[in-house]
Amino acid sequence: MKEDSQAERGPEGDPAHPVLPNDFRRQWAMIAPAVRQAVERVGASGWYILGEEVEAFERALADAWPLAYAVGTANGMDAIEIGLRCLKLRPGEKVLTTPLSAFATSLAIIRAGGQPVFVDIDERGLIDLGQCRDILTRDRSIRVCVPVHLYGFPLDLIELARLRDEFDLRIVEDCAQSIGAKWNGVAVGTVGQVAATSFYPTKNLGALGDGGALLTDDETIRDQARCLRNYGQSSLYHHAETGLNSRLDEIHAAILRDALLPHLAGWTEARREVAQAYCSRIINPLLRLPVLPEAANAVWHLFPVQVASDLRDRFREYLVAQNIRTGIHYPRIIPDQAAMAGLAYQTALEPVRARQIALSELSLPIHPFLTEAEITKVVDACNRWQP
Ligand SMILES: *Cc1c(COP(=O)(O)O)cnc(C)c1O
Repeated sequence: MKEDSQAERGPEGDPAHPVLPNDFRRQWAMIAPAVRQAVERVGASGWYILGEEVEAFERALADAWPLAYAVGTANGMDAIEIGLRCLKLRPGEKVLTTPLSAFATSLAIIRAGGQPVFVDIDERGLIDLGQCRDILTRDRSIRVCVPVHLYGFPLDLIELARLRDEFDLRIVEDCAQSIGAKWNGVAVGTVGQVAATSFYPTKNLGALGDGGALLTDDETIRDQARCLRNYGQSSLYHHAETGLNSRLDEIHAAILRDALLPHLAGWTEARREVAQAYCSRIINPLLRLPVLPEAANAVWHLFPVQVASDLRDRFREYLVAQNIRTGIHYPRIIPDQAAMAGLAYQTALEPVRARQIALSELSLPIHPFLTEAEITKVVDACNRWQP
């Protein structure tokens, strides 16, 4: 949906080029000169770890969010772990979270010493805040929550703020898929004491490798996060805590600030246009498209549709035959993962809906570099499908 030249978009003229869930080569074609410049600058500076580039990117990211401070980390998972440690998570403390997310969400809770408590999800696939309220009312020992704005859909931030105030919650909002999403004009990540995000290549602000950040309005949390990401070092060779090695590289910070962040707003708009085209033009009674509340201004990290579980594989294979590649988010919910066996966690309520979505969800291609022709190809394929 970008107005850029054909050459910039890469091999789209080739009808054999599949419609991909992400098209990193087209992104590269657009950002290459700025990336090269950033690399040149950092290389020539002779300073590669925790310097001016990380600071400048942190400032730019915090301003864009907007939140007061950003702290770059090696990845999004570490940003969640560090966030929880900054919120003084106690060993074995329960953490309310969703069973339907990247495994990293729960893994970060576990690595921070917490015990995930899973609730079920709502129709959109997001943690059910009504259930959260019930559980928080019943179990007064739960005071920490890691909600996920999954698929780029914002949770109801007014309700989340109510829960925070009523139950005195410490919250790390997992914004790995939702940078820029808003609820009633309020940005995700601003209700919790900490927001965590990821620059993994597939994410909306996707870098050329791993990276992440946590954001906060709280100076103490910022300082502690800076300490924890750097071995728990309070000053050179003085270790106040057993921290992590989880720094964002200077070179990546420079690339993010110069070559990627300036495009984020435009790329988000392009995603919204694709989503709008799918929502208005895909008409097939066998496919359930996402329906969002009026208040939600989503950033469409993914475009999840639901199809009867016994037909999903067939639908997926049909699309492959049409040269359209899809994803599944996620085929197995977190408490059902083999790695969780023997670990301390609770399912406060049976995650019935989450298991159902795991069997029925399929993600159609959505990214800023889809062409009109590709969008139409996906729409037509969906509309023509009958099992
Ligand atoms: C990608 C992702 C993460 C982890 O981010 P990494 O940078 O890969 O560590 C965490 N939570 C969600 C919801 C994600 O999509």
